Amino acid sequence: MTHFDYRDGELFAEDVPLSRIAEAVGTPVYVYSETALTDAYRRFAGALAEAGLDARVCYAMKANSNLAVVRALAACGAGADVVSGGELARALAAGVNPAEIVFSGVGKTGDEMRQAIAASIGQFNIESIPELERLSEVANATGATVNVAVRVNPDVDADTHHKISTGRHHDKFGIDIDRAREVYDRAAALPGIAPVAVAVHIGSQLTDLSPFRAAFTRVAALVHELRADGHDITTLDLGGGLGIDYGQQSPPDPRDYAAIVADTVGDLGCTLVFEPGRYLAGPAGVLLTEIIYVKDGETRSFAIVDAAMNDLVRPAMYDAHHEVLAVRQPNPDRAPHSYDIVGPVCETGDTFATQRDLPVLEAGELVVIRDAGAYGAVMASGYNSRLLIAEVLVRGSGFSVVRARQDIAAMLAQETLADWQT
Ligand SMILES: *Cc1c(COP(=O)(O)O)cnc(C)c1O
Repeated sequence: MTHFDYRDGELFAEDVPLSRIAEAVGTPVYVYSETALTDAYRRFAGALAEAGLDARVCYAMKANSNLAVVRALAACGAGADVVSGGELARALAAGVNPAEIVFSGVGKTGDEMRQAIAASIGQFNIESIPELERLSEVANATGATVNVAVRVNPDVDADTHHKISTGRHHDKFGIDIDRAREVYDRAAALPGIAPVAVAVHIGSQLTDLSPFRAAFTRVAALVHELRADGHDITTLDLGGGLGIDYGQQSPPDPRDYAAIVADTVGDLGCTLVFEPGRYLAGPAGVLLTEIIYVKDGETRSFAIVDAAMNDLVRPAMYDAHHEVLAVRQPNPDRAPHSYDIVGPVCETGDTFATQRDLPVLEAGELVVIRDAGAYGAVMASGYNSRLLIAEVLVRGSGFSVVRARQDIAAMLAQETLADWQT
């Protein structure tokens, strides 16, 4: 059940025909299914609970930080994993419990630390000694003591795209696991720092579970060592990374993931924190776009759509595969035609998909790019002075615009001429 299915000859989001959203809101537009979001949350959290784990799910907001998306997950009980002051502000605005906010990222500024301490967030995941020392200074100046996890780098290859693999020793993330014990000793000596947790996150879009097993096994050994060193480790943050099916992979089942967690770290008596992003948001969104022109070349047909790489950069940036569906249900009696689905931006990389069999398409028809709910809208830019597009949340037979399309006046209002030019 994807919540994006054909009914009466056309594609729906839950109980809403996508054509109705296009008519009301225009295209291109991101469309999210609230039920898909909350179902994914329940599958993930349910698998952990079934495995008998004491788990807290902190949604990795960088996947999709729209307030309505965060609110839908917070309403199910999700906390948040934030990576900037902006995401922290969104988490609070969406109603996430501050005690269930984890602050990740390699480059937190002093201002962001102050903002997070003022909000009384639950945990800081630190990634270097200079960052630990800065956090100590900031916390100490406010009289606070903050819960800290050191993000360790377990030197495990996540076997995913190199731009989203984070747990190898040459990646910029975390502190080498071999150096972790001295870092915890240092942390314990610093004022304002309570080093009570260990964090790990080895990459994104993992479709094979064995790197998780390798990483969690190393982390479990570290917890025993840290406890022997006298540190009171109560919490393990196992990061995110669970992959989804973009149409070519068979994604791991969260129950198998939970079994590996139980197997490797289940007997440590720790509260476990998870930071899924893509798994929750990816399949819950589509990018709905209208065909502007169909251009038949010598060897290829191009469907030129009104969405572009600035709206969804994953194909250009990660060579990502996304399924493309026509909103009008294909007629099984008519032969399909092969298309390259491309945007209007002046870059060859502005190609969403190549050589896809689709029903014969005409200008004015709608197509969707599937599984665009994560790392889609959040990575959008204004390249080519294209306006940031709208986002819509669907629930049942209702839908609501949860981010308005930017307009030209707003775009121009952000800039001014220099003093001497006016
Ligand atoms: C990106 C990231 C996540 C989320 O990763 P997904 O693959 O979207 O689940 C979680 N934790 C950290 C530290 C991250 O950088």
